[in-house]
Parts: sequence; structure tokens; C-alpha cells
Amino acid sequence: MSQDVFVFIEAQHDAIRPVANQVVGVARSIAEARGGKVVGLLIGAGLEGLSSDAASIGVDRLAVVDHAALATYSAESYTTAVVGALEQQGGGPLFFGNTSIGKDIGPRIAHRLGQGMVSDVVAIEQADDKPRFRRPIYAGKAFCTVEVQEAEYVVSIRANSFPAAEAAASPAEVVPVEVNLDPATFKVQVKEVIERDAGQVDLTEADVIVSGGMGVKGPEGFEMLKPLAEVLGAAVGASRAAVLADFIHPSHQVGQTGKTVSPNLYIACGISGAVQHQAGMSTSKCIVAINTDADAPIFEIADYGIVGDAAEVVPALTEQLKKLLA
Ligand SMILES: Cc1cc2nc3c(=O)[nH]c(=O)nc-3n(C[C@H](O)[C@H](O)[C@H](O)COP(=O)(O)OP(=O)(O)OC[C@H]3O[C@@H](n4cnc5c(N)ncnc54)[C@H](O)[C@@H]3O)c2cc1C
Repeated sequence: MSQDVFVFIEAQHDAIRPVANQVVGVARSIAEARGGKVVGLLIGAGLEGLSSDAASIGVDRLAVVDHAALATYSAESYTTAVVGALEQQGGGPLFFGNTSIGKDIGPRIAHRLGQGMVSDVVAIEQADDKPRFRRPIYAGKAFCTVEVQEAEYVVSIRANSFPAAEAAASPAEVVPVEVNLDPATFKVQVKEVIERDAGQVDLTEADVIVSGGMGVKGPEGFEMLKPLAEVLGAAVGASRAAVLADFIHPSHQVGQTGKTVSPNLYIACGISGAVQHQAGMSTSKCIVAINTDADAPIFEIADYGIVGDAAEVVPALTEQLKKLLA
């Protein structure tokens, strides 16, 4: 059995996603404990440019499955490609980001390999030669520590929970891998992908998030948040209530049934801080809450609180930040 540790290197719009660098950092610490190497798995079509970027993010070897059938993401084709490449490269623990794609293919890959899986890991400790993974349970109200009994397993890590790996001084060896991928045998075929919000900061990987709830009063309240987000280079999040009220598209929802985020700064504007909302953002490094109700639960987890009307505070804050950051 190989001592190596594998990393699924996720890319989007011809760029390596920041979470991939964090996953490589995690894999490096596990590989050091096992005395193995870190092997990156890059999956897709037309990967010449991406391969050289991926070879420099801190892996020791890069296995590339470059196939026309992988031009558009599908759980079936990507699972087959990852499992095929992993097996051909000797097998070992596999790490990836707990992104939408990670959540989609992680359990499939674990099932296909007959291995255990730990998802949404936020911390790792090494005990008795085995890693122990810390992950939230009960919608983030508690954490549990999980130890995998076998030497090979599949783990997804929460974005922004671990530091990125240091870039390599010289690029890693790139190994092309052939995997049998016949689209005619796929049970499902993706015919068209309709993208929305292209070019906007991705919520799950954002360093700063400006989020709005019912307290911003309507879609125009979210228009008010956009200049603040722009000046901070932030993504815009929302509570479920704001989404259900049609203030903003559901793709912005943060929480138990929305996206899980862990930015350095989360600014909650007119959000009460229900447990289901907290489940998606309580691991943010610094939380700022703006709310008219001084007893709102969001203030219990906020590092900084402003009791006031979001319609007054947000524009004033935006103006001050514009001056400060100019
Ligand atoms: C199974 C389940 C899953 C759920 N999943 C999610 C989820 O993923 N994400 C999520 O967010 N919720 C989720 N919810 C809903 C959650 O319970 C809350 O209902 C929701 O988070 C409330 O959204 P809110 O804070 O925007 O609205 P409210 O609770 O209505 O709070 C609005 C806040 O705005 C403040 N306010 C009012 N006017 C102003 C003003 N002018 N300026 C500043 N502040 C003002 C008020 O004081 C209040 O605190 C879920 C619920 C269930 C049952």
C-alpha cells in the first residue's frame, strides 16, 4: 500500500480554486506523518495551462486526467476519473474541498472505493499515529472528533479553515493518466450549463462577506449592500428569510440549508442570527452585526456590534471605508 496522500485539485473558470491550496496544506501534514508524498489529481479537458499552475501549488506529483468527456462537470464522469487516477497512482487517503463539487462527488468516490468518509472538517490533530478530524454536527451547535479506522479514507475540508500550502520552489512532475471514459455509457449526460453571477466573488471562498436579512427591508436593501461589498472586495450573502422574501437569489443563502462559509470578516446586516443561520457562518473569524434590536441573538456571537438602522449605518460605513481604503 502506498504511503502517499491524494488531493483533488478543483478548478473553476480555468483557475485553481483557493480551497485547493488549503487542501494541499492539509495533505502535506498528513503525508509527513505517513512518510509519503502529496499527489495532486487534476481532472478536466484541455488542461495544458492549468497543469502548469497546479504543478506549482505544493504537490510532489501531479496526475492529470485530460479527456474531452470531462469538459463539462458531471458527478458520474468526475467520480470515474478521480477513482481511476487514484487507483492507478497507488491509492491512499484522498482530500478535497467541501465545495458544491466536493459534496457531490466525495461520498460517491468513498462508496466506489469502499472507504470511510469524513466531511466538512475544520481542524485536524494527530494522535497515536492516526489523524483525528474535527467536524461540526447538529447544524454547528456542537463539534465531534472522528478517527478513521483504516489507512485509506476520503476527507473534505471546509474552505478557509486551514492555511494554504506554500507554493513549490520548482514545479512537480506531471503524469498523464488514461482513464476509460465513454460518455455513451454514462447514465446522465449534461447538455447545457447556464451560469449566473459569473465573475462575482464566490461566497464559500470569500475572504469578506456582507450579508443581509429581513432588516434590510427589500431587494433595494441588497442594492445598498453592494457598494459596501465592492469597497471590501466582498461577496454578498443572505439569510433564508431574505431569500424566501425574494430579496435576492437563493444562491446567496448562508446557513444550514444554504452555504457554509468561514471568511475572515462576516458583516451581518439586519440578520437576527437564528441557529440555522449561525450554522453556516459561526466559524467566521470576525463577525460584525448591525441590528436595531440590541437583544438579537447575532450579538451573542458577534465580535463587534452596532445597534442601529442598517439603512443609516451601511451607507455611513461604506463612505468611511471608501476613504480609509482609497
Ligand atoms: C429547517 C430550517 C432550515 C433553515 N435554514 C436556514 C438557513 O440556511 N439560513 C438562514 O438564514 N435561515 C435558515 N432558516 C430560517 C431561520 O430560522 C430564520 O428564520 C432566518 O434566519 C431569519 O432570517 P432574518 O434574520 O433575515 O430575519 P428575522 O429573523 O426576521 O430578523 C430580522 C432582523 O433584522 C433586524 N432589523 C429590523 N429592522 C432593521 C433595520 N432597519 N436595521 C437593522 N436591523 C433591523 C431585526 O431586529 C431582526 O433581528 C431555517 C429554518 C428552518 C426551520
